[in-house]
Amino acid sequence: MTYYRIQCLKTASHTAPEPVFLFMKGFNRTRDVNCYFWLIQGEGKTILVDTGMGGSYPNQLKESAKGSEAGFPVGPGEDTLSQLENHGLKPEQIDIVILTHLHYDHIANIPLFTHAEIVVNKEGWEAARHPIHKVFDQFPHDVLDYMVENMQSKLRLVGKEEEVAPGIRVIWTGGHTACSQAVQIATDIGRVVLTGDVAYLYDNLEEDHPIGYGVNVYESVEALRRLKAAGDVLLPGHDKEIMTRYPEGKIN
Ligand SMILES: [Zn+2]
Repeated sequence: MTYYRIQCLKTASHTAPEPVFLFMKGFNRTRDVNCYFWLIQGEGKTILVDTGMGGSYPNQLKESAKGSEAGFPVGPGEDTLSQLENHGLKPEQIDIVILTHLHYDHIANIPLFTHAEIVVNKEGWEAARHPIHKVFDQFPHDVLDYMVENMQSKLRLVGKEEEVAPGIRVIWTGGHTACSQAVQIATDIGRVVLTGDVAYLYDNLEEDHPIGYGVNVYESVEALRRLKAAGDVLLPGHDKEIMTRYPEGKIN
């Protein structure tokens, strides 16, 4: 069997009104969440899901990074390079980067991964590059342009369900963004699914309650159902509780 190890890496903190995370719920409350990226190792491959934030960006991205990171403080040692170093890794050792979607907090450090294949949902990539209406345009275009100009040959645009490496599949979810995809990983604790932001919190999964911040609530509801069937262990995109359930972020 093909088995991988999964490590959750915290890269920032964030606070937002609860209806962002839970559709039409908690209008008088806020929630504190974490931002994560994920290290997957096994079968001779070193893979990241999303890229982490913080550190030194290429010059043309520095200015907008300041604005984008204002509400997402990156704590000491939480930036991508420090987190990789903790695990004895340098960016050039990453073979594959799977992007759950193209929001800033998930792709900020993509320029570090010059040697990796970058896996993005095909239709969602086009939708992000050419939004059909301003309300769907929630993407950092300077980072997307950087990818086109400097990493085009490394971009692997994938379909709705595709094997990325033996034992690792992407499953398109939509819901949060048109480019949202989950990642299903074969491990010794069963099929682990990194849901991406179609489930921000355990509450989304356990109460079967869709997220509030998204482009399509129907898709979000449908995705929760499909992901529960696709995984033995589900890990939501931003829940602080992950670090309690899995001390130091070690999933298996
Ligand atoms: Zn997002």
